[in-house]
Amino acid sequence: MQKFDIAIIGGGILGTTLSYWISALTDKRVCVVEKESQVALHASSRNTGVVHSPFYLDPQKKKKIAKAALLSHDLWYDYAKQHNIPWKDTGTIEIALDESQHHTLEKYLKWGQQNGIAENDLKLLNSNQVKQKEPNVKCHSGIYCTKDASTDYGLLTRQLQQDSEQNGTAFLFNHKVISIKNNQLKFSNGKSLESEFVINSAGGHSLNIAKQFGLAQEYSSLHFRGEYWQIQQNHANLVNTNIYTVAKFTKFPFLDPHWIKRSDGTTEIGPNAVPVSSPEAYSGIGSATKTIAKIGEVLSSSSKKLLFNSEFLSLISKEWKSSISKGAMVNRVKQFIPKIKPEYFRIPGTAGIRTPIITKSGEFLAETLELKSDNSLHILNYNSPGATGAPAYSAYLVQNLSENGILNLGKEKSGIWNFAKILDSA
Ligand SMILES: Cc1cc2nc3c(=O)[nH]c(=O)nc-3n(C[C@H](O)[C@H](O)[C@H](O)COP(=O)(O)OP(=O)(O)OC[C@H]3O[C@@H](n4cnc5c(N)ncnc54)[C@H](O)[C@@H]3O)c2cc1C
Repeated sequence: MQKFDIAIIGGGILGTTLSYWISALTDKRVCVVEKESQVALHASSRNTGVVHSPFYLDPQKKKKIAKAALLSHDLWYDYAKQHNIPWKDTGTIEIALDESQHHTLEKYLKWGQQNGIAENDLKLLNSNQVKQKEPNVKCHSGIYCTKDASTDYGLLTRQLQQDSEQNGTAFLFNHKVISIKNNQLKFSNGKSLESEFVINSAGGHSLNIAKQFGLAQEYSSLHFRGEYWQIQQNHANLVNTNIYTVAKFTKFPFLDPHWIKRSDGTTEIGPNAVPVSSPEAYSGIGSATKTIAKIGEVLSSSSKKLLFNSEFLSLISKEWKSSISKGAMVNRVKQFIPKIKPEYFRIPGTAGIRTPIITKSGEFLAETLELKSDNSLHILNYNSPGATGAPAYSAYLVQNLSENGILNLGKEKSGIWNFAKILDSA
């Protein structure tokens, strides 16, 4: 049986950046076990591709991920340039449709400053100033973040896998963990391995894995599919900046569909947030068995409370409508880009699935959740802007493992980023 010091479950952007840092800073035998045939086949490729600046993140409630996003922007920029990975400095305007939403933008300006965004990178604009920049956008006002960019997180993860392998990480593909007992991981392909320490970064499956360690019993999770539509290229120049709107349902971690300029030159609208049965139900409603199992799980867990929350139900019915009907999705964006028409959108974009964690009291957990046991670390609720924040957030986790005596950090083997500098700025 193969033996490792550290086994990382999940080869998404988080597991891969973690493996990079551990292999660059220690002599531990590290492996990443991934159930698919390559890294980043799920959320880490199926996302909006925006490199977010954290102006819209509450500096208290989302402190860690806000800091990680701020610090990671330049790390990804350097890395993308070094490897010729697409990067577009698109900028984002988040718009208010009325006075009350404008107050949210004023709050975002303060949050942005508290989260460390430079004054020049974030400006409030009135409706005329927005019109000057984007004549086809109709709004009350906007906040313009010049630093936001678009990239391809799938390509970045695949490139980072190579750097991690050069440092000695073993990537074991087609290895789906089905059970973990006494440091032994068993896989659906009949193989098994032994590891001193396990890091669980299994994305939408991480809660189930944490539960196998006897942790996180009080939490449940829901899966929401985000769908996109691509605009025909001859209409793509209607607007040249990413356009987001202030979310109508502030208690829930979803944004209304936005207008996105992708790094490959295409333009899309989306994503919505449609409840589905599993973290990989990318079309339809998923298999009947999984749907029944998920309904049973919801009814016996804290997520059940959301079924009695009228605001949540109203949000979900709106999201469903925009899944069933392309026209409904287009109409949501038409409120701020009146010139678009449903016939401009013929090709669906690539859907992705978010898995927020629900607390005992039936609320969406705001921050990423880190749970530890003697021989394991679990990262749950690692949602947007998780792709942006991955390099700095995983550096922070590795530093934490060192402070807890799990890792003994030495001199950095390869120098694509500077670990000490990242932690000094954190
Ligand atoms: C629709 C959408 C839009 C988003 N937009 C943005 C954005 O614009 N900017 C941004 O910064 N972030 C965005 N995000 C968030 C970002 O994509 C995620 O935070 C990030 O990709 C999470 O990475 P991860 O490695 O934790 O998860 P994943 O990429 O899901 O990786 C987890 C991996 O674990 C593997 N796995 C699971 N179970 C097992 C098992 N039992 N055995 C072995 N392997 C297993 C899976 O196959 C998967 O590869 C978006 C997310 C979605 C869904």
